[in-house]
Amino acid sequence: MDSERLMQQLQAAGFHVRHSDHAAGAKTVLINTCGFINDAKEESVNTILSVIAAKKRGGVERIFVFGCLSQRYRHELQQELPEVDRFFGVEEFDKIVETLGGVPSPKYLTRRAIATPPHYAYLKISEGCNWGCAYCAIPLIRGKHRSTPVEQLVVETKLLAARGVKELLITAQDTTYYGIDLYGYRRLPGLLTALSEVKGIEWIRLHYAYPAQFPEDVLPVMRDNPKLCKYLDIPLQHISGKVLKNMRRGINSRQTRALVEKLRAEIPGIALRTTLIVGHPGEDDAAFRELEDFVEETRFERLGVFCYSEEEGTYGAQHFTDTIPDREKQARRDRIMSLQARISQQLNEEKIGKTFRTLIDRQEDGYCAGRTQYDTPEVDGEVLVSTANNALQPGKFYDVLITAAETYDLFGSYSAP
Ligand code: SF4
Repeated sequence: MDSERLMQQLQAAGFHVRHSDHAAGAKTVLINTCGFINDAKEESVNTILSVIAAKKRGGVERIFVFGCLSQRYRHELQQELPEVDRFFGVEEFDKIVETLGGVPSPKYLTRRAIATPPHYAYLKISEGCNWGCAYCAIPLIRGKHRSTPVEQLVVETKLLAARGVKELLITAQDTTYYGIDLYGYRRLPGLLTALSEVKGIEWIRLHYAYPAQFPEDVLPVMRDNPKLCKYLDIPLQHISGKVLKNMRRGINSRQTRALVEKLRAEIPGIALRTTLIVGHPGEDDAAFRELEDFVEETRFERLGVFCYSEEEGTYGAQHFTDTIPDREKQARRDRIMSLQARISQQLNEEKIGKTFRTLIDRQEDGYCAGRTQYDTPEVDGEVLVSTANNALQPGKFYDVLITAAETYDLFGSYSAP
């Protein structure tokens, strides 16, 4: 969304802007970077290096880098990568526009470009984070939690809906904290209801729900409001009490299990996505086995695993020693992911013979790719629908019969009524 806001600012200042994962044909390239963990940092640096190579070959004239990594390591990056013309922090959009010779416009709080397909868009409901997870540098980069007012988010959603957006992907560093700083209480249920009333929005999907002090009044809204996808992305990170304590997550093992049970009981059929961190200080063999057992028992519909990396300035870096070798961390990640692959295959096979409302994302040669309410774009699986003549339109909903399953994707067919 930061890239989309910057794109809007640049377009408003009269620049021609294109969102792309390659630099071909561009004179000025702006790279948004992430500084969350080692893997993300590496990916950002590799992107910068590939654009530097393009600059050396000719064509690209200027490289600007912005975002978290740039904010945190500006001086180091300036020294290591002198081919980059300028580095900017996370919210220095005005400076970027000015450096390019444009005039920044202050009126684009609610308006932004969309880099996603026209029928879905991300909506970031707050910035920053008030938690202090031991491994995480985000609060150091993004600062304290600041909620965006409900009215502003409703205006932004109306503008998105007017441009054809049907699915809203709610994000923030921590979505369940929404409202405390502005209204004095967690206002996520009210916000979701207000957004669901925007004409044209048909699906609302909630991501990054922090589990500690989870606002349980959001559950009936998710259960009863047909526009809210029965889907929740809730990063649990671990289940061992010792590791959760070291992580400073503000929730223990028993509370985590109780929350998962409550989610499943209150919202029948909900698809839970979680992320886990392996190799965190304190994760001995017993703690890792506990995590494996938890994954086996809980049968998350979607799951991702990161390997712990020590981040400068964090509580973890100051108080723990990162003793688990990278090879061991990767082996643990692989073990969880192969366990999850088996679970995902089983869950997908249970869908064969059933019909699901499917939002088509794109047409390919000979089939269309879409998603059910249980899948978020770009991260989760897809439903690949064979149709006689590719008749399904991106951005429209169809009832698709599931005919076959792979580990993460489903195959289906559609016949017009
Ligand atoms: S909730 Fe924890 S992991 Fe998420 S951004 Fe805040 S400190 Fe980082």
